[in-house]
Amino acid sequence: MPRRIDHYLQSLVHEDKFEFYEVVRDFADAEVAPHVLKWERDHVLLPESVIAQMGEIGLFGLPIKEEYGGQGGDMTDLVLMGLALGYHSHSAAITPGAAISLGAKPLQLCGTEEQKKEHLPDLAAGKRMFVFGLSEPGRGSDAANPEVTAKKKGNAWVIQGEKCWSTNARWASHVIVHALTDPDGPNGRRSTCFIVPMDAKGVFYQEMSGKKVWEQSSTGQIMFDAVEVPESAVLGEVNDGFKVMVTTLNGGRLFIGALALSSLAFALDKTRRYAEERIQFDDQPIGRFQRVQDVIIDMDVALERNLTWLMHCSKRFDENKLDREQAAKVKMDSSRVASELLPLAMEVCGGVACLDEFGLIRHLNDLFVTRVGEGSNFALKDLIVRPLRRD
Ligand SMILES: Cc1cc2nc3c(=O)[nH]c(=O)nc-3n(C[C@H](O)[C@H](O)[C@H](O)COP(=O)(O)OP(=O)(O)OC[C@H]3O[C@@H](n4cnc5c(N)ncnc54)[C@H](O)[C@@H]3O)c2cc1C
Repeated sequence: MPRRIDHYLQSLVHEDKFEFYEVVRDFADAEVAPHVLKWERDHVLLPESVIAQMGEIGLFGLPIKEEYGGQGGDMTDLVLMGLALGYHSHSAAITPGAAISLGAKPLQLCGTEEQKKEHLPDLAAGKRMFVFGLSEPGRGSDAANPEVTAKKKGNAWVIQGEKCWSTNARWASHVIVHALTDPDGPNGRRSTCFIVPMDAKGVFYQEMSGKKVWEQSSTGQIMFDAVEVPESAVLGEVNDGFKVMVTTLNGGRLFIGALALSSLAFALDKTRRYAEERIQFDDQPIGRFQRVQDVIIDMDVALERNLTWLMHCSKRFDENKLDREQAAKVKMDSSRVASELLPLAMEVCGGVACLDEFGLIRHLNDLFVTRVGEGSNFALKDLIVRPLRRD
């Protein structure tokens, strides 16, 4: 049975984009799908050899301009990568996904020419990895006023505090730290972003333990104890750090939407295949029951609708025309609809859906991150409601 998502993508994207999607899909089928269950049962992170292979096929340089050694791709390519890798493993998808859309992106958007020349070629080649350091133990959705501080000392800045939930921390060469620099400044103009090497004196990293989602993705706590960085480490303007972070998140949210739809695409294929194979009552497949068909139809309709919407938003992003609310809406709705349908897909399959080897449980768990990550769906409604109100 061909994948349903391929059928839709073929009509939604240009031929060369679809060919790129096929390359990543085939890579995931060969290098991720056969091993993901063993990685899960062994409780290991994504092997570095797989990350290196991703680098070899150019995934880390996907949207980086060719003049800096990248592939010169766009948001549509990034979303297609998320759909192709996420189908088997969100962890495999988020590793290059976060490195690109949260790590390299702020540098591309706000870096000086010097910073770009210093870092982008190595980021594109997968030799360096940047981590997005926004969240803190005491600052999640309310991220505008970080507790991590950066104070001026001569020509240097001294950073103090702790970041958490930092995706890719295990493999990172640098972390982009969002720190409070002007506590008395106007709202949204109190913080600054800094590029901090993970091996700088006073930086400590520890992998977060007990995480039962995105299990092969590295998620770290990063501590900063009087870490000194030069003025050249400032990314963007001083006291404009929140703008750097918020601009970055727009694209990141489309990627999270792609992960949600990759789960829906997997669940749809798994369920319709099982519904044809599983025989109950009078030697008939369970797919003849109308209630089973209802779930499959609902998944198919949701996939086609949200995929069309997501690809439209990606195109708008590439044309520099995507509003923040649009990115928030497609992320919110895709994660919500996929996580509402996943338990029904499991119910269609019955007891076998409880087994890790069946794959649906992995997607059910991983989908939770798409609801809270890069702006929790509840908090994003504050943004989405703005154009709907008069005041
Ligand atoms: C696996 C994983 C990877 C992550 N990777 C990164 C990363 O690389 N870099 C990074 O900086 N962060 C990362 N995060 C953090 C993520 O962005 C935060 O979890 C998210 O911003 C929500 O913050 P919080 O979990 O502290 O929830 P809180 O802000 O404490 O909110 C808890 C809940 O309260 C409700 N709520 C909060 N605010 C509002 C509001 N305004 N209106 C209505 N309801 C509200 C929502 O239900 C929300 O889910 C990651 C998180 C996870 C789980």
